[in-house]
Parts: sequence; structure tokens; C-alpha cells
Amino acid sequence: MTDQYTLQDPTKMYADIDTKAQYQEGSGLDAKLRDKADHGEKTYRGTGRLSGRKALITGGDSGIGAAVAIAYAREGADVAISYLPEEKEDAQRIVGLIEAEGRIAVALPGDIVNPAVCREIVAMAVEGLGGLDIVVNNAGKQQFRESLDEITDEQFDETFKTNVYAMFWITKAALPHLKPGSAIINTSSIQAYAPSEMLVDYATTKASINAFSKALAQQLAPKGIRVNVVAPGPIWTPLQTAGGQPPVLLPAVGESTALGRWGQPAELAPAYVFLASPEASYVVGETLNVNGGSPTP
Ligand code: NAD
Ligand code: MG
Repeated sequence: MTDQYTLQDPTKMYADIDTKAQYQEGSGLDAKLRDKADHGEKTYRGTGRLSGRKALITGGDSGIGAAVAIAYAREGADVAISYLPEEKEDAQRIVGLIEAEGRIAVALPGDIVNPAVCREIVAMAVEGLGGLDIVVNNAGKQQFRESLDEITDEQFDETFKTNVYAMFWITKAALPHLKPGSAIINTSSIQAYAPSEMLVDYATTKASINAFSKALAQQLAPKGIRVNVVAPGPIWTPLQTAGGQPPVLLPAVGESTALGRWGQPAELAPAYVFLASPEASYVVGETLNVNGGSPTP
């Protein structure tokens, strides 16, 4: 039985996952991903690094957020996940995996483009978990458009509301509950540094997330609250197959990395565990890039 500590050649991992062209309508379901992503279900081994902690993870139903939810539960945390109501099927599976660890799972459906929903999500997480000390802003919207005039005002607005405004609303609502020692982790992207021509709106939000996080990290450090960022490279998740990239380009996107393959959600979870845990007590305002080897500033 392998786990995340087993020595493996990173160029050869996940050779069995076929990241071929595929497309799904809507926001994308893990359940409908033709070639299943790995969220660490069979491999993530906890060592008590988040024992007794209480975490809210937005977009915890699938992809990176789901891998983080599984890892946090196995590290001993109770976990609330927020997600789009239409992704309930994926969310229920992750709730089951959290509960299988003997931890509390709180399911929070709701569209976070609405500020009232964001505040409600935080309130329900606090109530369901009995407090809050880790906030992972991870939900995101990414829709490729080949030219600027194809980006409607509605898309531009929704991408910003989901990726930037919701992070602001959720963080602001969570702050009164966060005691010294708490951690906020935001999900940026390689797109913040190496923006694709087809992801103008999305890339702009990801650069915003970096700036927001570094500014807020300075402000909250004196209160004992650490803010950090994880910036993933191409990771095999429903978002990518639901219009995040043109389907025909999906194989090339993974091959473009130094490791020559897509990353899997399971490979992101340890970064979020590290930044949430007291091991990272002196790590503030940092962006941890997990991108298969694309140089960043
Ligand atoms: P994903 O589709 O599995 O997860 C995103 C989740 O966000 C969805 O499951 C959904 O429940 C939630 N969400 C989206 N819009 C929402 C809304 N309006 N209200 C409530 N919830 C909403 O995809 P993922 O790739 O795991 O994405 C997680 C994060 O990682 C995103 O911020 C994304 O931008 C970022 N990211 C992904 C990649 C990648 O290659 N997959 C690369 C860099 C950054
Ligand atoms: Mg999902």
C-alpha cells in the first residue's frame, strides 16, 4: 500500500489516468469525469497534524478542495465544505469520506456569487463545527474564451464574484471567529504569473488573489492569523473539462509542464496541510507553487 510518503518517480506517476479530450456541460462534476481524478482516497495517510482543528473549505466537493477535505479529516480536523447545489452528488461522497474518519462533516450548498450566501456559509460552518480556525478559499470559475469580445459582461462579473469577491466576503465574515493560530489559505494559479491568452478574466482574478493575500497577510500577522496562498499548475479536475480549457488542448496542457503531465488533486493536499498546520508558524504571505515545474517570479 503506497501513501504520500512512498518514494516514487514524479514523471511516472498517474500514467494510468488518461487525460484525453473530454467535455462536460455546466460547472462540471467529478462523478462525470471520464478519467477519474485522484483525491488521495486510497493513499493519503494522516499523522495528526490538524488534530481538533475546524476547517471551512469552499469548493470542497471535487478537485483540489475535495483532496484537501479528505486530507484535513485524516489529519484530525472537522471539515465544512461549501459547493454549488448542483454538485451535491460529489459533495455527498466527500462528506462520507470525512465522516469515515470519525470527523464532523458540514455540507454547505450555495452560490457564493451572492454575499448573503457567503455570510450564511460562514455562520453555518461556525455553528456546525463549533468554531472555525482554518479557512480555505478554493471555489473558482474558469471558462476559456478565444477573444475579449466573447467574454460577456456576465461572465466577467461571475468570474470575479466567484474567485475574488466571495473570498473577500467569506474571509471578512470568518475573521471575527478566528483566534490566534488560525490560518487562511487562498487558491491562486500559475495563471497569475503566466496568463493564457484564452483566460483573460480568470488570470486577472488569480493575480488579484495573490495581491489580496499578501496585503491581508501583513495586516493579520500581528493578530496571530497567517494568510498564505497555494498556486496550482494544471490539475486534473472537473473545472478543466467543463470549459476551463478547449477540450482538444487538454492533453497538451499537461504535457507543457516540466514533469510532462497533469497534476492530480491528491498532489495539492499536502501543501494545504502544511500551510494550515502550526509547522508553518513562520510562513506568512507566501505563495506555494505546486505546478509541475513552471518557473514563477
Ligand atoms: P473543481 O471544479 O473541482 O472545484 C471548484 C469548485 O468551486 C466546484 O466544485 C464548485 O463547487 C465550486 N464553485 C464554483 N463556482 C461556485 C459558486 N458560484 N458558488 C459556490 N461554489 C462554487 O475545480 P478545481 O480545479 O479543483 O478548482 C479549485 C480551485 O483551484 C479554483 O480556485 C481554481 O481556479 C484553482 N486552480 C485550478 C487549477 C486546475 O488546473 N484545475 C489550476 C490552478 C488553480
Ligand atoms: Mg465540483
